[in-house]
Amino acid sequence: MALSGLDIYKLLPKTNCRKCGFATCLAFAMQLAKKAVSIDKCPYLSPEAKQLLEASSQPPIKLVAIGSGENRVEVGNETVMFRHEEKFHHPSALGFIIEDSLPAKEIEDKVKQINQLKFERVGQKLDVNLVALRQNAGKDKFISALKLISGITDLGLVLMSDDLAALKEAVGMVKERKPLIFHATKENLSGFAALAKEFALPLVVSAADLETISDLTKELNNAGVSEIVIDTGKKPLKDKIWDFTQARRQALKKSNRSLGFPALALVENDDPYEEAIEAATFIAKYAGIVLIKGIASWEALSILTLRQNIFTDPQKPLQIEPKVYPIGQVTDKSPVMVTTNFSLSYYTVLGEVEASKIPSYIVSVDTEGMSVLTAWAAEKFTPDKIFDSLQKFGVKETVSHKKLIIPGYVAVMSGELEEKSGWEIIVGPKEAAGLPSFLKKL
Ligand code: SF4
Repeated sequence: MALSGLDIYKLLPKTNCRKCGFATCLAFAMQLAKKAVSIDKCPYLSPEAKQLLEASSQPPIKLVAIGSGENRVEVGNETVMFRHEEKFHHPSALGFIIEDSLPAKEIEDKVKQINQLKFERVGQKLDVNLVALRQNAGKDKFISALKLISGITDLGLVLMSDDLAALKEAVGMVKERKPLIFHATKENLSGFAALAKEFALPLVVSAADLETISDLTKELNNAGVSEIVIDTGKKPLKDKIWDFTQARRQALKKSNRSLGFPALALVENDDPYEEAIEAATFIAKYAGIVLIKGIASWEALSILTLRQNIFTDPQKPLQIEPKVYPIGQVTDKSPVMVTTNFSLSYYTVLGEVEASKIPSYIVSVDTEGMSVLTAWAAEKFTPDKIFDSLQKFGVKETVSHKKLIIPGYVAVMSGELEEKSGWEIIVGPKEAAGLPSFLKKL
């Protein structure tokens, strides 16, 4: 568990010798608690204090990496139970289960479809992460399906099999891609541990209850396997959520290192709507990896959209660069409208301007990422700020008219803005959805 500044201070020599660059040991302790300095800066720590401080600086939930190159995905290393306390750091990896018993053509089509699951939302790229191949038939089928899949996707791989011989051959083929091995159990632990250790691969460990998981992760650690993902098997949604919550709580609040690993959720529901809801629930609480069956783009997009929202910093709204954005083949006569630099506001306006097919300029004012009404209430979207932005971004020099469209929600500022700027202020619709018809009539 992370130590407070005072806890750390008690472990320091308290001589205030200044060798660490701080005036007092207490000042150094406070910086150490914030992880702003390293413990090596104090040369006088006792070996016991050093060991304690090193242990407390380890992340309570292990960071596990799967895949290589630009498709490498990292999960775990979370530090809080609730995102409002700080933020969640590593978005849950989303993967798709492919059965090796399917005809080769069907496997190929599915993986190609998975490769296409790339989206952009509010200026951010939303990608899926993993392809999980599950063995249902003999070794040969598993190996040939892996050969096929690894040739057509660069996504991270999950090898799902209970057959150690098949896994050894599969790992030999794709070891440099750092696949995740699924899964060690109480019965097969030593063989799977040896395989994971030999190739330095992450390994899923499965058991029905957390107590057994805890015992197995200790055994795996002793066997030299450190990158572990935990799985409590098939059970009702509420029981899984209970497991994931307890594991996270144990790791963060009780410093229980044997449960400090990212969790994996296998979601296999024949109803794709139910499947999307379950996957979303696990992303919210607290799966590091979610594997699903459905590959429809609506299902992936809905899950990824939720993931994007859960893993943004609640204290830092998504923002775009404040500036003037030309949309389409603009001329000096194109309309000019103003909005805030909150990503969702800007991209909603952008979508509607594009839909109108009327080339326009959008001036994005720096409101520290607040939406129109919030920024107005917080005095971040004021006539002064809008006028400053028009000047700073050279809007007057860009167009040959002086007409500015403002959001309908801030119609109240039109008089003052007109007076301050000398521009004619046109009050636009309250909702961006009204922009296409508004622009056509303008
Ligand atoms: S170097 Fe160590 S003993 Fe000296 S002031 Fe810094 S923390 Fe204290």
